[in-house]
Amino acid sequence: MKENIMEKADKVITATYNRFPVVIEKGSGCRLWDTTGRSYTDFVSGIAVCNLGHAHPRISRVLAKQAEILLHVSNLYYTIPQVELAAHLVENSFADRVFFCNSGAEANEAALKLARRYFWEKGQTHRYRVVTMEKSFHGRTMATLSATGQDKIKKGYDPVLEGFDFVPFNDVDAIRRSIKPSTCAVLVEPVQGEGGIRVPDAGYLPAVRKVCDENDLLLIFDEIQTGIGRTGALFAYEHFRVAPDIMTLAKALANGLPIGAMLANEKVASAFGPGSHATTFGGTPIVTSVALEVLKVIAADNIIEHCRKVGDYFKARLVELKNRHDSVEDVRGLGLLLGMKLNVDAMPVVTACMEKGFLINGIQDTILRFIPPLIIDKKDIDALISCLDEIL
Ligand SMILES: *Cc1c(COP(=O)(O)O)cnc(C)c1O
Repeated sequence: MKENIMEKADKVITATYNRFPVVIEKGSGCRLWDTTGRSYTDFVSGIAVCNLGHAHPRISRVLAKQAEILLHVSNLYYTIPQVELAAHLVENSFADRVFFCNSGAEANEAALKLARRYFWEKGQTHRYRVVTMEKSFHGRTMATLSATGQDKIKKGYDPVLEGFDFVPFNDVDAIRRSIKPSTCAVLVEPVQGEGGIRVPDAGYLPAVRKVCDENDLLLIFDEIQTGIGRTGALFAYEHFRVAPDIMTLAKALANGLPIGAMLANEKVASAFGPGSHATTFGGTPIVTSVALEVLKVIAADNIIEHCRKVGDYFKARLVELKNRHDSVEDVRGLGLLLGMKLNVDAMPVVTACMEKGFLINGIQDTILRFIPPLIIDKKDIDALISCLDEIL
């Protein structure tokens, strides 16, 4: 079975991923099982997607119920779950309006389009450039890979979209210096995810906000990875007490169903009128009913408080490992978005963990990323720490 599937995949699926030699068949909570019956504790969550774990009973129930009522009708009509989800997001964030789409890249596309459209509406058609960060990650479509501050993502796709100015993350003076008359926005992840779990200094994002206000620039937060409780707040910007003009969400918003969202304040959102932007699937009832339930479960079960608590515990235990092993250079992150920088290759550690029944993720060659479901408990964390202790 396993060999059959792997062999078939190698023939019929584009080779864009180097997959691990397992076929995952089912999950429950923080546990996954492969086709041979082996179980794994999941510290990846489908890359910060399944924040409530796998096969969550409330999520499965809403999904099944909505599947019997209505999957899709298009945005030519109103549907209840979409409106309820947007209202919930507006009530619980800085934003006044939401545009729904199907992925993170699409949410960032919408944000970039809205920024241009906003200045176009004001008659400032020359303003289109966006300041963005080195080591950032914003997606794989042409505009979002162009906005991404990593050469490997752009390799082979020249000419990429023009109009992005890259500056080091956590350096507000560099932003100031890069502003041109044609600049319209600053795009930044509040905590860099893919780029290596980098948390900025406490004063950085407020200072970026100030620079944007002084220069009439829009501030866009990419919270696709940091949002929906991941960092110990519903949105990471709450930690820094600063609101953007536009925020993008995706990954964990529907706990595994494909969804993206672009949120904006009224001033900016009003630049999107009928016909200015659209998507067939965005905000479809099946996906938005699940996302609404995700947000309700997060609130009802105190998931964010739990995330903060076990995140602090997890980080402290990773620091213990750093103190014991010369191969660990740094431990960093917020909530349950944690990273451990090694001075050796990360991949052999990831593979060894897998052999011992733990799924973890390696990024930027030498960094281990830990992004378990937010419902993870101390016992599972302790088990992984013992495993890492042995491997390191
Ligand atoms: C994953 C991610 C994206 C891209 O999302 P997709 O759904 O894969 O298009 C964009 N920005 C950040 C910060 C991400 O983590």
